Amino acid sequence: MDVKQLDFSSNPAFDQHEGVYFAHDARSGLEAIIAIHSTKLGPAAGGCRRWSYADRESAVTDALRLARGMSFKNAMAGLPFGGGKAVLLADPNRAPTKSEFEAFGRFVHALAGRYVTAEDVGVSTDHMRVVREQTPYVSGLPQQGDAAGGDPSPWTALGVFLSLQRAVAPLDLADLTVAVQGVGHVGYHLCRLLHHAGAALIVADIQPAVTARVVEEFGARVVSVDQILTTSADVLAPCALGGAINERSIPELNARLIAGAANNQLAEETDATRLHDRGILLLPDYVINAGGIIAVAREYLGGSTQDDLQQEVGRIPDRVAALLKTSKALNLPPSVVADRTAQQLIGRSPMSVSAESSVGGPATVHDDAAAGHEA
Ligand code: NAD
Repeated sequence: MDVKQLDFSSNPAFDQHEGVYFAHDARSGLEAIIAIHSTKLGPAAGGCRRWSYADRESAVTDALRLARGMSFKNAMAGLPFGGGKAVLLADPNRAPTKSEFEAFGRFVHALAGRYVTAEDVGVSTDHMRVVREQTPYVSGLPQQGDAAGGDPSPWTALGVFLSLQRAVAPLDLADLTVAVQGVGHVGYHLCRLLHHAGAALIVADIQPAVTARVVEEFGARVVSVDQILTTSADVLAPCALGGAINERSIPELNARLIAGAANNQLAEETDATRLHDRGILLLPDYVINAGGIIAVAREYLGGSTQDDLQQEVGRIPDRVAALLKTSKALNLPPSVVADRTAQQLIGRSPMSVSAESSVGGPATVHDDAAAGHEA
């Protein structure tokens, strides 16, 4: 296998990443990127995404953005990990193979523990089991007994659900409608929790089979993927890929609250200001979707039970409440406050000041926002 460290510093998503590696394995067909953003707080931890990209540059951009988001997510969750992410460039005409994941395991191992992998979009616990045959630097393996571990998506969904519930209080979810974009692993579990809380569901997915399941189990109403973002609902929960909230979609949104699991929901940082100007509240994705990384981190470190996870994920809404309080006090979008807090925690300066310009200029992050960050 050929592993190279490449210079992607000219990519607009580059933010002083510590390393970006590209692997090609001719035998298995693996083409993969591992981006390490920061190891200041510990080894870079973040999932492995298998997706078919338009071109290699798009895959690099995704890896860079996702890795940065993982630094922020792990720091805000109080985990002893830095941020990184792996991206596998999928051929749309080829199903994933065992040899592809074996080669990926060797790629992870070549980085000698600087990066710890787990599942993300297009990747399952079975794939992680194959990776484990090649390297110990992997988590999200099948769950054993009462120990923390297994598929992270129910934990991700739980953190999103609890945060959403806190943000709408004192309103009752039973009186609200939630539009869920993408009902794969996390979206499905989020629908389950919302349905049990009595919320009405509107869903869309590019795969009809997964929407059929939430219709049957939770009585969801299906709309087309083109309609889901603009459908009239109290809450919009993006649970597909990143960039759903952008310059084009923001003027058309019909929900007052956005709370979903997808990483990098904002296409660019200025979208935070666009939402703020429209009076739409977005709960920062990497704060509310940390349940999954908490689960895989605790599994990796050992010594935690499912009950411990329940309690740790249950503290995510406290962080959200602190963030919203600071956001209100500073009249800044919550995502801007979250980014600044995360940057402080990992010792980085802001990458862009664009989000500051129209919401009152630079401001320091209030202690309240940092108060909720211990794990
Ligand atoms: P998944 O692949 O299981 O589900 C994603 C779903 O989105 C799929 O069903 C896919 O068909 C659908 N989709 C893709 N494009 C779409 C579109 N344009 N419109 C509607 N549906 C579309 O992935 P997942 O694990 O559920 O992750 C979902 C999101 O949450 C991703 O952004 C992921 O990075 C993020 N996330 C996941 C976890 C986790 O624990 N799995 C943790 C944190 C964040």
